[in-house]
Order: sequence, then structure tokens, then C-alpha cells
Amino acid sequence: MPTTLLLNAMIVCLGEGDAIYDQGYIAVENDRIAAIGDMKSAPDANAFDEVINCTGRLIMPGLVNAHTHTPMTLFRGLAEGVSLLTLDGWMTAIRSLEEVMTADMVPAAVEVACAEMIRTGTTTFADQYFFMEEIIPVVEKSGMRAALAYGIVELGDPIARERELAQLEAFLETIGSLESDRLRGWVGPHAFFVDNSPEMMQSERRIAAKYNTGMHIHISTTGEEDALTQEQYGTSAVTQMKKMGMLDAPIIAAHAITIPEADWRILAEHEFTAVAAASACMRAGAEAAPVLGMHNAGINIAIGTDNVCNNNDYDLFLEMRMLAKLTSFREKRPGALKARDILAMATTGGAKALGLADEIGSLEVGKRADLIVLDRTGIGWTPLPTNDPFTALVYSVNGSAVTDSMVNGRWLLRDRQWTTLDYASAVKRQSEDVLRLLALREEAENA
Ligand SMILES: [Zn+2]
Repeated sequence: MPTTLLLNAMIVCLGEGDAIYDQGYIAVENDRIAAIGDMKSAPDANAFDEVINCTGRLIMPGLVNAHTHTPMTLFRGLAEGVSLLTLDGWMTAIRSLEEVMTADMVPAAVEVACAEMIRTGTTTFADQYFFMEEIIPVVEKSGMRAALAYGIVELGDPIARERELAQLEAFLETIGSLESDRLRGWVGPHAFFVDNSPEMMQSERRIAAKYNTGMHIHISTTGEEDALTQEQYGTSAVTQMKKMGMLDAPIIAAHAITIPEADWRILAEHEFTAVAAASACMRAGAEAAPVLGMHNAGINIAIGTDNVCNNNDYDLFLEMRMLAKLTSFREKRPGALKARDILAMATTGGAKALGLADEIGSLEVGKRADLIVLDRTGIGWTPLPTNDPFTALVYSVNGSAVTDSMVNGRWLLRDRQWTTLDYASAVKRQSEDVLRLLALREEAENA
């Protein structure tokens, strides 16, 4: 069983008890944390296969990006000045690209996405898109942990419905048969009521229950669902979802900007996570989600980058900072959310969203060894006695401070170098792919 000992680091555990060690150690055995504590009680280094001195470093749990669409890394820069949170913006900027995109363009885009997440401290992510056959092998190779949701847009077409449901089940079978338990399959309706009909929603709920998984959707980016359900049922979308049993499955709900306050209590009683994507919302000119109110009402909050066409990066440190500032701006008061709360949303909140609260999200004995190491000798951290680590992590530094990243006890990044992915090669292929994509779109437009 491979063993690793990390010594002399500041360790921010973020778990129950919220331990911080100024000079601490972590012992990793196989894929789990075997021991953690103050250097005074560190075990004998000779007993370990690998011993790393982490003087000047900070170790914390790996971050969880709870909402993204990795293949869309191919479209980065192609939706400038357009809001992808509206159906109109989507149709204008993205739809024509997706119509000509081919499966062989997906792997490089996903590899770039995974590499950028690893490099900036994300160890786990929740993805939602189609082309899952192409996504799975790249995420497997990356070594990351992920909840991959098979994206479904149905638009009331019965032929599309049957095809999508068959492909969804095939996908869940495939992912369930993988040797590694790092990848989990989720159901990914694009949006309830808006483009997934009530009939489709019921089928999705049954399939989620059959495979013991949840649904990863977009909800309340605008008030569209509520307008539709008010017209059809005379209720809010959340009330109607509850009536239909949709809240019986775990739900990762991206954006959650316009959920009426009267519905927060219902959501707090269920396995429901609102994923804040502050950068995407701000760039789209959308409203700020009532994150503080939902958090105080007891709803689990996680943080996501969303697609990088409306962001445009995968750095969850920047996303934490953006959310912290946006919340104060929205609430018109300083420090509306504590830095510690923001860090929890990007770690334990994300873990809970993905149903992995017992496995990841904090550094505790028995949990998976999913951790990141940051260089605390670089810019932004000082003065060390007064700039506390929570404040520094949220407001002063960014993902470039990450030097090393580990998932399941395996290094994915060592001394800022990827160990599983080839970024330079992926970037080169991605550039060729996007030129091919634009040529295909021009061909289609002229046809
Ligand atoms: Zn999204």
C-alpha cells in the first residue's frame, strides 16, 4: 500500500472542529488520509514510501466545481457580449456551433478544462453535457473525481424523448461498470418545464431512483419556470416539482437566481443544492442570486464556474472571491458572507451537493486523500500574523498559488507540472478543432 507523509505545512482542515495546524503533517495511505495533526505528534518518516517537506506551504481540501460544461471550452471567446443565460443568447452564439460540432472535437476541449481545473486547485467537478462517450475517457485519464450528468434537451418531441432516455440509461450502465469509483453518473435535464416536459421529468425521476443518483439541472436563471408553472398549474415551479416528486432525488441546481423566497423552506428540507456561478451571472448582466438568504434558510450552497464562454476561466479561487464580493454588493453591507463560509461552499458544500460529504470536502482521518498544496511564500499572503488564511484564500490569492494537487492519494500536479495530462498537446489540438468548427459552421450557413 503506497504511503506519503507531508510535513511542516500550515493545514486548513475545514471539517468538523475546523482545525488549523500552523505546523502540521498529513499521512496518506493508499487513497485515504491515515493521520493528520501537529508536527509534535508526527509519525516516523522512515515508515513512508514518499516524504515531502512542505515548509512555506498551505494544505487544504481540493476544491469542488459544482457546475460546468467541459466540452464548451472549445467555444471560449466565441460568445463575447452575449448572455448565455437567456434562450435567445444561447441560440445566437452557441446553438449553431453545437449543431456542427463533432465528437472528435470533444477530447481536447475536455483535457484543457481538466488541466486548468487541476492547475488551479479543483479536484472534483460536476459536469453536464452531451458527448459523454468522449468525455468519460479523458476524465478517467485526468485522475479527477467527477459527477458526469448526461445532458437532455427534449422540447416536447416524443422521438427525442425515447432516444434520450435510452441513451441516458446506456450511459448510466457504462459509468456504473467502470472499475474506478471516481466517476459517478447523473441525470442532466437542461431545465425542468422550460425544455424538459413534465412527462420527461417523471421518466428522469424514475431513472435517477433506479440508478440511485440525482439530477443536475439549471433552475431559475430567469423566472421562466415559474411563469410556465403559474400559467399551467397556478403554482410556483418548486411547489409543482415537490408535487411531482422531483425533489425526492438529490438535485444540483445551477444559478438559482429567481427562486421565490417562499419556496426556500421547501428546498432546505430536501437534498437540494443551489450552485452560485457569480462570474457567469455578472458577465451575463443577470441578477445576483440571493445566496445569503438561501444559505441562512438552510439550503446547501456550492460554487461553480459554469461554462467558460461566459466566465471565462476555471479558477475556483477567483469564483469564491467574486461570490463573496457580489454578495456584499447585493446585500449592501460588508462581509455579508464570512470568508470561512465561502471556503466551505467551495469544499464541503460541493461535496454535499455531489453526495460525497462522507468522502471528500474536508481533511479528516478516513476521508479520501483529495488535497491541494499552495505556495505561501508568493504574493498576497502577508502580513502572515494578521492576514488570516481564510481571508487570504478568498480575497488575496488565486489558483496560480497551487503547486500540487492530489486525488485518491495520487498526485495529479507536482511542482506545478501535470502528471496525468498533456496541456500543450491538448491546447494545440483544441486550436485546430476550433478552426475546423468555424469552417463547418460557415459551410452550413452557405448551404
Ligand atoms: Zn450551465
